Amino acid sequence: MEKAPINWTNMLLFSLTPAFAIVLVPLYGYFYGYDLYEWAVFILLMGFCGISITAGYHRLWSHKAYKAHPIVRSIFALGGACALQNDILTWASAHRRHHQCVDNNERDPYSASRGFWFSHIGWILRNYKSGQDDFSNAKDLMNDPIVMWQRKYYLSLLLFMNIGLPAFLGFIHGDILAGILLGGLLRLVLSQHVTYLINSIAHMWGRQPYSENSSARDNTLLAFFTYGEGYHNYHHTFQWDYRNGIRWWHFDPTKWIISLLALIGLTHDLKRCNTAQIEKARLELQYRKATEKCERFDISETWRLRLESEYEQFLHTLQLWTEHRQAWYEARGKQLQESLHSLDQLQLKHGYREMQFRLKTQKRRWQHLLRSLAEPHPQLT
Ligand SMILES: [Zn+2]
Ligand SMILES: [Zn+2]
Repeated sequence: MEKAPINWTNMLLFSLTPAFAIVLVPLYGYFYGYDLYEWAVFILLMGFCGISITAGYHRLWSHKAYKAHPIVRSIFALGGACALQNDILTWASAHRRHHQCVDNNERDPYSASRGFWFSHIGWILRNYKSGQDDFSNAKDLMNDPIVMWQRKYYLSLLLFMNIGLPAFLGFIHGDILAGILLGGLLRLVLSQHVTYLINSIAHMWGRQPYSENSSARDNTLLAFFTYGEGYHNYHHTFQWDYRNGIRWWHFDPTKWIISLLALIGLTHDLKRCNTAQIEKARLELQYRKATEKCERFDISETWRLRLESEYEQFLHTLQLWTEHRQAWYEARGKQLQESLHSLDQLQLKHGYREMQFRLKTQKRRWQHLLRSLAEPHPQLT
């Protein structure tokens, strides 16, 4: 098969910047050294680029998972130009196609089915047909003046953010070159590869608790390096959720920043998937896999029946829990507004608490059942 033509701008950029970084950064460090201020510039710009891509390019513009004040959008537009990952319109349009046609080698611009190298960076180095611009899926973004402004002045912005700003930050501290090498070059190379890990590793290594319809995986370690984007199986299942790590202990700084900005009114309409929907997705997948296992290993019919009955009970409890929860939340809202303390409300609260307990017990029973099934010679207890 004939290879796609090389994109020389990208090829040179993505070969020369790492090559220069590997040689020049340690060399300058060896002869002149870097101080705390210069490392702080590196870390701050690294975080600025990272969050602009994850909270801005990704969750805001590609997925519309929340809305943001023009100040926030402008800051993310600058940070995105600093990260040098193309303008917002091109990035978001390609990313929407990635979700829509995930793993389709003809349509997904960074399909992981084409291997690690292709999904990581190979797709940028050649003009592949699957990577051609098609903004028909991003008409909404064309109405965002900040998106179009960033696209129009992209070249000037990227030069300013990658050379002008690090040079200035170096200049005020008395070492322009150190500023450019750490805040410009090293930061650029690392921040780019950190983002690309989501397209490669997060589609190859990790767990698939919510869906097996795509190659996307949850990878906790990756979340640590990617500002929370490692929970990629969840993200591909519920792409419009502003969170990727849904538990409070999940490492998702992007989610924390979006929530913090909401507290001061700079972001709003944060979309989140409800707990019952998430539990249901997980439960359905577990049930399907368990019944498949029963068939494959010819496990007794009693097992299949037990699984089916527990699964249905779980779904039923989940439904009841949702109803009780909604009733209690509504009552609580009214209580706040009208300062009422009726017996009804107390009953609703107890009802919800009870359902919470029932759901917990149900979940424990289900997990015990799955654990027993995972044993070499599964026994029903
Ligand atoms: Zn996405
Ligand atoms: Zn993906």
